[in-house]
Amino acid sequence: MTLRGRLTVAFLVVVLGPVLLGAVFVGTTLSAVDRGRATERLGLAAAGVRTSVDALCQQLRAAADAVALVGDPAARSRAADQVVGRGLAAAVVIADPSGRTSYATAGGPAGPWQDCAGAPAGPVGALAVQVRLRDPAGADLGAVAAAQPVDPAFVARLAAVTGVGITLLDDPGRITHTTEDQGVRAAVLAAARRVAGDRVAGTGDGRYVRRVGPSPGQPLPLVLSVPGQRPPGLYGALVAAVVLAALLAVLAAWRLARVTTRPLVELAGAVDRVAHGDLTARVPVRSRDEIGRLAGAFNRMTRETGSYVAALTSSRDQLRNHLVVLGDTLASTHDLQRILRVILDSAIAGTGARAGAVLLLDGHGVLVGQCVEGLTGRWPTEDPTDPATLRVPVGAGVVGAVAATGEPLRGRWTPPKARTGEPTCETYVAVPFAAPDPRGPERPGHPPADGDPAAPPSAALGVLALYDRLGGDEFDDDDLVMLRTFAGHAAVAVENVRVHEEAQRLSLTDPLTGLWNYRYLRESIRREVERANRFGRMLSVLALDLDRFKHVNDTWGHAAGDAVLVEFARRVRGVIREVDLAFRHGGEEFVVLLPETDARGAAIVAERIGAVVRDQPVPVDGHGDEPLRVPVTVSIGIAVYPDHAGGGQQVLDAADDALYAAKAAGRDGYRLAPAGDPVPTQEIPVVAATVTPPDGLPRAGAADPAGAGPGGASSGPHPPRQSRGR
Ligand code: GH3
Ligand code: MG
Ligand code: MG
Repeated sequence: MTLRGRLTVAFLVVVLGPVLLGAVFVGTTLSAVDRGRATERLGLAAAGVRTSVDALCQQLRAAADAVALVGDPAARSRAADQVVGRGLAAAVVIADPSGRTSYATAGGPAGPWQDCAGAPAGPVGALAVQVRLRDPAGADLGAVAAAQPVDPAFVARLAAVTGVGITLLDDPGRITHTTEDQGVRAAVLAAARRVAGDRVAGTGDGRYVRRVGPSPGQPLPLVLSVPGQRPPGLYGALVAAVVLAALLAVLAAWRLARVTTRPLVELAGAVDRVAHGDLTARVPVRSRDEIGRLAGAFNRMTRETGSYVAALTSSRDQLRNHLVVLGDTLASTHDLQRILRVILDSAIAGTGARAGAVLLLDGHGVLVGQCVEGLTGRWPTEDPTDPATLRVPVGAGVVGAVAATGEPLRGRWTPPKARTGEPTCETYVAVPFAAPDPRGPERPGHPPADGDPAAPPSAALGVLALYDRLGGDEFDDDDLVMLRTFAGHAAVAVENVRVHEEAQRLSLTDPLTGLWNYRYLRESIRREVERANRFGRMLSVLALDLDRFKHVNDTWGHAAGDAVLVEFARRVRGVIREVDLAFRHGGEEFVVLLPETDARGAAIVAERIGAVVRDQPVPVDGHGDEPLRVPVTVSIGIAVYPDHAGGGQQVLDAADDALYAAKAAGRDGYRLAPAGDPVPTQEIPVVAATVTPPDGLPRAGAADPAGAGPGGASSGPHPPRQSRGR
């Protein structure tokens, strides 16, 4: 059963029960009162009937006595006439001792006569009293009877005296005379048959009936009847009232149940919708009662849940976008700055941080901010807008400690005693990332910073740090886990970029000497000629060939020859500028490009190379304890663009020709290409597939800035910087 049904039933019971009870009470009370009154009236009427009949019998006895007192029979007859004439009796009959009527007054009532002292045994025609006639000796002389007729007039008189309906019955119980209407006679008769003595019975139509007599002194079998005094249609009115009340109650119950249960039904429907994921479900607030408050609370709850879900969804979408960008970036570029920025942005979006930074370890035990986000003006340095100023020594502050121990840290910021260069913040989380190297830290060619006491024990590459979680809470373990993932990405990215750079470098360098190779020479000569052409500068080309190198090999062995080649390359690098490029052309032949250098400057460099090679024999491992000292010299040919040739290949050829000239001149010296015809400058058609290393990659052949020779032949704008070769 529904709540609404239960409420309706409860209301009906509460309302209709008392109404029904009240109606029954009113009905029974009214009928009891009515019956009591009728009984009282019938009792009074019965007494009246008895008194009247008794009085009539007294009167008849007196009349009969008066006639019997007369001794003379003739006078007795006259006396009888006088009694009738005065109305004391309706008739007087005188009988002789044999019972024969000796005299009767005229017009006496028809029989049978009922003696006042007897009981009737059939229909009654008149009431009579008989008196015996006796002589003084007591002998029976006959009897005198006086009678009064019992007719409709007599009954009507009784009814008038008592105020009730009177019905005279005969002995079997049939109606002889009655004052009741034809319509009610049957009901009265039926009720009269049910009662005896003083008891009262009701008829179906609201009358009350009792019997009087026959009894001594009242020999007539009479039925008294009175109409009830109940208002007509009382029960009908009561039933109508109850039905009306029931109808009203049903209506009110229906309405009340509806008003009460409707908000609950709406609420249940809305809860159902929410359960199925529809957070837009709302219910109308119709009142300020408990149900209204419940509806309001429900609406508030769904609204807040909806906005919470929307925020979650948008942050999930944001994170998904970041991850897509991250994936694309990792797959598409080797631009480390860009990759690190995308990683940082994704980590910030994933954890809801306000700011963050990625720091990489440089070769001197200092963490250097590679990219920062949201940290403008947040760290205590002189120039807070410059990200390059974010430098934290390993071991100092939070990120320094993370890099030193290799353990992540998170928590609330406490200002350090000494200035660390770190950003200030409220909360932080920082995780280290290390090169993903299965072979351990002692990888050839990637040694840790030599002898640097500040260098971390692990192969830490850097630190990923986030600051100030939005909302003020501390970063939690989930954030830490997520940040470790991003740090892993960063480590892989750094390593990938390093490997990529290494591969790039290896494809363009000579493995024995570390100088640029022939492939890169072709690309470089094209680029440098183009640059010289554009800016109207000169470019000198030196072609170098070791003298009698076959002899070195033959005398000291091939390994010693290789060692000589390595040492030679080192010495050449040591005497050229950072912007100059040195190549191993093949075998023991080398090329040096001197941008923005004229013939005079090139000659100085050639002399310097010749001297640095010639002056100290190259020490190589011998068979004994003492290293062997191999004397080496070099011959050099010089050509200058655009003085000696109009293109890259031509200037190389011109330098080669000059080299031969130097050899022919006795070796261990240099020669300048002969001044040729003025040649119109032109581009060298270089094969399109030549490799163009991106700027910023380490390039072989550049000199250590500290060891750069004293005399650069010319100055001018510097070409892209070169990192030191190995
Ligand atoms: P010249 O003064 O005329 O140049 O005499 P040379 O002996 O140097 O003659 P050339 O330049 O023609 O000889 C090249 C020699 O260099 C041949 C080879 O034995 C040696 N050589 C070439 N490449 C290498 C190398 O990679 N390692 C070693 N050890 N020797 C090499
Ligand atoms: Mg040679
Ligand atoms: Mg040679």
